[in-house]
Amino acid sequence: MQIVKTIKEVREITGAWRKNGYTVGLVPTMGYLHEGHGSLISRAVSENDRTVVSIFVNPIQFGPSEDLESYPRDIEKDSAFCESLGADLIFNPEPAEMYHEGFSTYVDMDILTKELCGITRPMHFRGVCTVVIKLFHIVQPYRAYFGQKDAQQLAIIRHMVDDLNMDIEIKGCPIVREADGLAKSSRNTYLSAAERKAALCLSRAVQCGSDMVKNGETDSVKVVGAMKEIIEAEPLAEIDYVKAVNGLTMQQTDLIEAPALTAMAVYIGKTRLIDNFAVK
Ligand code: AMP
Repeated sequence: MQIVKTIKEVREITGAWRKNGYTVGLVPTMGYLHEGHGSLISRAVSENDRTVVSIFVNPIQFGPSEDLESYPRDIEKDSAFCESLGADLIFNPEPAEMYHEGFSTYVDMDILTKELCGITRPMHFRGVCTVVIKLFHIVQPYRAYFGQKDAQQLAIIRHMVDDLNMDIEIKGCPIVREADGLAKSSRNTYLSAAERKAALCLSRAVQCGSDMVKNGETDSVKVVGAMKEIIEAEPLAEIDYVKAVNGLTMQQTDLIEAPALTAMAVYIGKTRLIDNFAVK
């Protein structure tokens, strides 16, 4: 496995692979990898001849008062993890490699990016779309892998690829959870012991909501209401949003029916966590 920091090196390596007829899978990440990322990497390794993992804490998807500086980083541990899963290349650029002086072209999207996380984080998805399209142009993968954990992001990427006629297969992968249900996240590392316990209200609410829907409840007011009640009972939790939306358009829905997405963002202390369930 190789680790490279420049766009030129990635182009040389992946270009040679494509010349040999190899399929290339890309897993974009911000690093501090866990088994959630691992599930994407393993799937990419099993479905492609070569797998690239990008590790880049993308500054333009963070708001001014967010955690860009404190975001956890451990490239050595991440490299060993990627190698153990069979990845072939890590692309770990510095911000200046991705955003040269005078950088001024962004990919923006209406509608989907304005809902859910887009309300609290208005520039977030512009940063995500821009870095993802740049990574697509740099790596030129055949397939790219994203987690259902960031369900809005996944829907936005699919929409972008469709809108801009990009010839890349987007693969969505299920949420990987800790044994007690908490969705794995690099940001879980911010939680104190008491907050870690409190954070379980997210997965409990998801479990409750998805059980209600499995048992035939489709009224979003009832399902979202029951989920909010669980979170509001936790003193360390503060709801950003809990909403049922159409999973393709992100527009609020009264009926939780396929393709619905019931998603939440909740502050546990200062840490903002997300979770969701989809009705396929
Ligand atoms: P991040 O490093 O947080 O930007 O995440 C990189 C990719 O891993 C995104 O596509 C995420 O949706 C995915 N991911 C993060 N956590 C999980 C998880 N617990 N289960 C599945 N995928 C995840």
